[in-house]
Order: sequence, then C-alpha cells, then structure tokens
Amino acid sequence: MAVTSKTKIQVWGESAARCAHCREQLIYSEDAGLHESLVGEVCHIFAQGEKGPRANPNMPQHELDSPKNLLLLCRKHHKYVDDHPELFSVERLAEIKLNHLIWVGRQLSVAKSWSCNLATLHYLNIPRLTILSAMSGEMVSYDIDTSKGLYCLGAKLLGVMNAYQRLLENMHPKVSDMPDFKEPTDDQIGLIFKFNDRFRTKNAPWPDRTADYSDFLTGNIDQDPHIYKTFGDCKLTMVIDPRWITTTTAFSEFIPSAGHNKFSGLAMVKSIDQEAGVVTATPLVIGIPKSPLQSIFEMEVSDLPRAMES
Ligand SMILES: [Zn+2]
Repeated sequence: MAVTSKTKIQVWGESAARCAHCREQLIYSEDAGLHESLVGEVCHIFAQGEKGPRANPNMPQHELDSPKNLLLLCRKHHKYVDDHPELFSVERLAEIKLNHLIWVGRQLSVAKSWSCNLATLHYLNIPRLTILSAMSGEMVSYDIDTSKGLYCLGAKLLGVMNAYQRLLENMHPKVSDMPDFKEPTDDQIGLIFKFNDRFRTKNAPWPDRTADYSDFLTGNIDQDPHIYKTFGDCKLTMVIDPRWITTTTAFSEFIPSAGHNKFSGLAMVKSIDQEAGVVTATPLVIGIPKSPLQSIFEMEVSDLPRAMES
C-alpha cells in the first residue's frame, strides 16, 4: 500500500504547503506567470518499509501511511532527514511536526474566517483551491480533466462551477484583509488575503473553446494576462492564468473597454521585489459580489416577512 492522494492533500493542507523543518514554501515558481512546481514531499516518521530509516515492523501498514505518521518536507530536508536517522529520530521528527503545526495555527489565528459572497465565479484556480480547502478541513477532489482549461470543459463546466460555489460557501477559510502594500515586507509572502477592489486589466485573451491554454503563460509580465493595482510607489500584480477563467462573460470581464474593473476574491502573496516595488500574488478565486437585492431573491419564501421587517 502507498500513501493515498487524499492523505497527501490532507498533509499538504495541514502544513500550509510549507516544509515543517525550514518553512520554505513548497509551491514554487521563479517567474511571475509560469506554472508552479510542487517541490515538497510527504515523508514517513516511522519508515514505510522494514529497511527504511526509523523502521517499525510492528506498526501495521495502514497506520504507517496515515496522516499521523507523515510530515511535509522540502526535497532537501526529506533526503537529509532520511540520510541521518541518528540526528532525526522518531521523537525529533514528531517534535518538528508538532512545532510546525503550532506555527501554522499561530499564523492563521490573526486571520479572519472568510464567507464567500460571490454571485458569479469568473476564475477558479483549481489546484490552489484544493490545498486551501484542505487547510480549512474540507476535502475536495476533482476527477475532471482541467489540463486545457475550464473554458474547454464545455457542458461539464456548469457542474464544476456549482460544486466549487458550494465548497467556497462551506469552507470559511482563514484569510487576512488586503494589506496596504505601500511598504511590503517579506513576512507577507504566503499570506492569503481577500480583496474587493478596482484593478486595471492587461493582456487578457479572447475566449476560444478550441484553444489549449495549458502553455499560454510565458513568465513575461509584458505579455501575460494580469490585473494590477498601485499602492503609492508599489504595484500589486496578479497573473491571470486563462486555464482558470470560467465562462465567456468571465473572459469579457478581464477585457473591459475602460481598462479597469471591480473584482472580488482571494489571493496569496507569492513574491515581493522591494527594489522594483512589485508584489506578485496568485489569485485563488475571483468573482463578482452578490448584491443585497440578490440575497433577497435567494431567500426562502418563509424568510421574506422577517427580512422585510428588519
Ligand atoms: Zn526544508
């Protein structure tokens, strides 16, 4: 038996996608637009096999492969830990894991729980939302082929959007308000924040259902689709990967004739270049907020008299 993908997602989620030993971010990209690589590995505390480091022949396989016996490490530390069992005993690894989970909890405690108030989902970063949902204790897995992009799913798209709408409304992830990025600091890297603001839009493509958007991004911000907003001398940039744009309407929202539009959603700070004054964030979900009128339409008829009184 091996570690199941559900267990792996759970371990990635509870560790907030960071190495338990050095806290390095494990969703990695060197260029603003390029697809990220997962550079973390789920590592056994008691070894998986009888010959591995820290073996425990008395532990049944299902316990060896359970989240309790696993921790998330970067590739470097996974190798180092397994090469030096004399330095990294079972007790030491359990301590490293516990300290990391306490650290993650502390980071999240300053954040507030986010209630999804989006009427229309224009952008769903499926891999990122999978990890976010695991961090919030909700599990979601998708058995759809998203390699070419959501827009290319055709008739299946509506079901996917409904599933993610429900997920977002149920998961209440812990997030921060959008910081004032006038003077960004390195400890903001990894921060997940909500936004509901006007952004300028650039380079967004026209919708094409026959297109394969998997190789669309170049890593060059002069060419790649993005939305941005300035804070004093600093600029917040979010690259829009066309794979995660949902509908024809959504594409058009990223090509407004005015050159700017109001967007609402969640994003994660990916990198900060203080010299250039650029903060790059990865959007997780983007949509249009529900209007107060709309929530009245969605109420049950029995709720109406109460709503009208208040
Ligand atoms: Zn590490």
